[in-house]
Amino acid sequence: MNELKEIVLSPDPRLSQECAPVEKIDDEVRALAKRMLRVMYAADGCGLAGPQIGEMRQIVVIDVDYAGRGGKKNPYVLINPRIVTADGPEREGSEGCLSFPGVSVRVSRPSHVVVQALNLDGDLMQYEAADNLLAVCLQHEIDHVHGVTMFDHLPPIRRAEAQREYEAALAAGARPGDTEVE
Ligand code: ZN
Repeated sequence: MNELKEIVLSPDPRLSQECAPVEKIDDEVRALAKRMLRVMYAADGCGLAGPQIGEMRQIVVIDVDYAGRGGKKNPYVLINPRIVTADGPEREGSEGCLSFPGVSVRVSRPSHVVVQALNLDGDLMQYEAADNLLAVCLQHEIDHVHGVTMFDHLPPIRRAEAQREYEAALAAGARPGDTEVE
């Protein structure tokens, strides 16, 4: 599938760079959001951030209802997203990433999050989530626009293990959207 070829894979240096805020929400930004959603759905992902397709801008798309769950499409587009609050007990959960095909890792994150972002109409929106996929996805995707990946949350020894697993998965032909390779 062509869309999958657009996805930037670790260790591409673009995944570790801070992204610039979007200055103006115009047709070009709306087209970019559409392209990001197309790539995300093609890879059966629940989120995608600009740098994952080489667009070094603070834009994120999320749909926690559709991929793998057979629900209706319910896309969110978050422009210049900002975490207002991240608190509540830390929860450890399994995460995958379209930029790390073939692996999933256990990441510990705050369980409750409040996020503000502009939508494609330029309205300031607020999202709140606790103890669910959206709470994890918001934090995971917003990390990406600041050059942070799920591997950066791992303690050194687990990170080294995950890195070896990832390299083995890539060598075995893992593609974006694969979370495990047997
Ligand atoms: Zn990711």
